[in-house]
Amino acid sequence: MRLRTIFISKKMVALGILVVGLFLSRPVVAKDAVAEAVEIVVYSSRMEQLIKPVFDAYTKETGVKIKFITDKEGPLLQRLLSEGEQSPADLFITVDAGMLWKAAEEKVFKPVSSPVLQANIPAHLRDSGHRWFGLSVRARTIVFNTKKVDLKELSTYEALGDPQWKKRVCLRTSKKVYNQSLIATMIATMGAEKTEKVVRSWMANLATDVFPDDTEVMKAILAGICDVGIVNSYYYGRLAGENPNLPLALFWPNQGDRGVHVNISGAGVVRHAKHEKEAVRLLEWLSSEKAQSLFADVNLEYPANPKVAPHPTVAAWGTFKQDTINVDIAGKLQIEAVKLMDRVGYK
Ligand code: FE
Repeated sequence: MRLRTIFISKKMVALGILVVGLFLSRPVVAKDAVAEAVEIVVYSSRMEQLIKPVFDAYTKETGVKIKFITDKEGPLLQRLLSEGEQSPADLFITVDAGMLWKAAEEKVFKPVSSPVLQANIPAHLRDSGHRWFGLSVRARTIVFNTKKVDLKELSTYEALGDPQWKKRVCLRTSKKVYNQSLIATMIATMGAEKTEKVVRSWMANLATDVFPDDTEVMKAILAGICDVGIVNSYYYGRLAGENPNLPLALFWPNQGDRGVHVNISGAGVVRHAKHEKEAVRLLEWLSSEKAQSLFADVNLEYPANPKVAPHPTVAAWGTFKQDTINVDIAGKLQIEAVKLMDRVGYK
């Protein structure tokens, strides 16, 4: 009887140890789960359909989840500023170097010193202060009606102000940052006086009022309202993708001098990022050869990483020399560009 009691006690002790052991191991399991559940928060003015496939690929490869909020660039920047230290955002992805520059001026970004990013992204497509990095390149170039324009007629952006183009030019509104950036680079290269003359000559050649977007410009060309315009190449890609037989083509201007005006979509790590290390890793991955096609191809843009070839549809538009002035000039001279366009009556 005594022996039996001792035996049971031993069993009970063993059970007790097991229970205590299980209990003690619980927090360890929970801690691991927390580590795995790191979720990077991205604010993006790049549309959901353009970034979701890229983020899905990252999560599949690394197991790291990404939560993203999309909105227009202005409201997102305002949100980041008003949230300040409380912001859950780790990474801010936006379009146009002018906007990235503005966000950097507002101290939204934290500089990232990354040899990977510096190797993958050419110097003219990123901030010299390492606060933001271009991830895709968009060319703002000339589009023309192939039935009405002889290729020999085309040469430079400036030449669209020549008398031969009287009432043949269509343009998008100067309110759009894309045009402000184009004019800013022209001011930087040619000086304000010459740029003003050029833009004034464009105004004299306009066939009709300015349009709210690039697609409307191309539709006006197709409708015979005008023969040439200036658009971002991916809008041409979208329209031509829907109807490949359109009498519309892109022309690469200024190949004898500064090259085609390019702009970027890009990103930076938010100053108050809660997952800074993870955000840097994601940014580096986005610049990698593997991710660059994914990032650029969905919007028919050019990869920022020069080691990566563009999508075959984009490659078919031909190669061109791009303006290698640092895209941050779009921000630095934006106000001057807006004032210039205002002076010449570019609405
Ligand atoms: Fe756009």
